[in-house]
Amino acid sequence: ECKGQYMHHEALYTEQMGKEMQREQQIINEMDTALEEKQFVVYFQPKYELDGYTPRGAEALVRWKKPDGTMVSPGEFIPVFEKNGFIIKLDYYVWDQVCQLIATALRAGRKPDPISVNVSRVNLYNPNFLESLVNLVEKYRIPPEYLHLELTESVFSDTENVILNAVNYLHKAGFTILMDDFGSGYSSLNVLKDIDLDVLKIDMKFLSKGKDDGRGEKILAAVIQMAKALDMPVIAEGVEEKKQVQMLKRLGCNYIQGYYFAKPMPQEDYERLARKSHE
Ligand code: C2E
Ligand code: MG
Ligand code: MG
Ligand code: MG
Repeated sequence: ECKGQYMHHEALYTEQMGKEMQREQQIINEMDTALEEKQFVVYFQPKYELDGYTPRGAEALVRWKKPDGTMVSPGEFIPVFEKNGFIIKLDYYVWDQVCQLIATALRAGRKPDPISVNVSRVNLYNPNFLESLVNLVEKYRIPPEYLHLELTESVFSDTENVILNAVNYLHKAGFTILMDDFGSGYSSLNVLKDIDLDVLKIDMKFLSKGKDDGRGEKILAAVIQMAKALDMPVIAEGVEEKKQVQMLKRLGCNYIQGYYFAKPMPQEDYERLARKSHE
């Protein structure tokens, strides 16, 4: 009886694993064609200045638009691409699209707000990363200050020289570096002591309703004060409610990114919004 039950669970377990592997294999089988056929589409989520609620740039977020019209979110395919290295090609593709957008705006005589792109941790161990990024902005002739780089917090848990050297090189080359997902994992505080990053992006976990005894707000207040002392502007991500906006404003947060103001949107929609805000 007992043994039968165990075997049943084991069968379920392996069946689930099998499905997971199948799904992963399908992603791997389709990725090259998807890139060639431009099925990867870059969306833009505006960031809003809390002072006046004006849009000030955006974050580029990739989606996979399958030929049948379904949209796959990055949470599904990025972990697979980080395992097999394809993320290096995909990240570069996204940066290229973003540089094109910036170059087009500059050539039309506009002064666009900076756009941030995500840089996978895998790229930091890619020996061609720094050179290819610098070559890219040179190819489009855009000043590097228009392209902001988001590096997720956990990247810095390796205090290896690789990371320090990359950050120094990128700063010398004129890029702005954001620490993404701050507070989502471990590490961070000593990292801020050792590495001079430019902008702090606070993880949405800080905003989630935990015990409603004001602890979250106190921690947020302290984090924002710390960032200010370090001369780092603060962006809060994942802001969905008016109450959160009011609290963040009271605490002196600088920028907000979240569904409350805007979801990630297609390029044309973002360009329209950005132009309107500069009229
Ligand atoms: P991230 O860089 O931390 O991006 C923020 C994520 O939060 C995005 O999810 C965004 O759509 C979502 N978000 C924004 N506001 C809200 C909100 O108010 N509520 C909720 N619930 N969510 C909100 P998305 O687009 O699914 O991307 C997930 C993650 O995938 C990103 O997290 C980033 O780590 C990764 N990613 C996305 N695009 C790229 C890319 O081009 N390259 C790399 N390497 N990673 C990427
Ligand atoms: Mg990000
Ligand atoms: Mg984030
Ligand atoms: Mg700085």
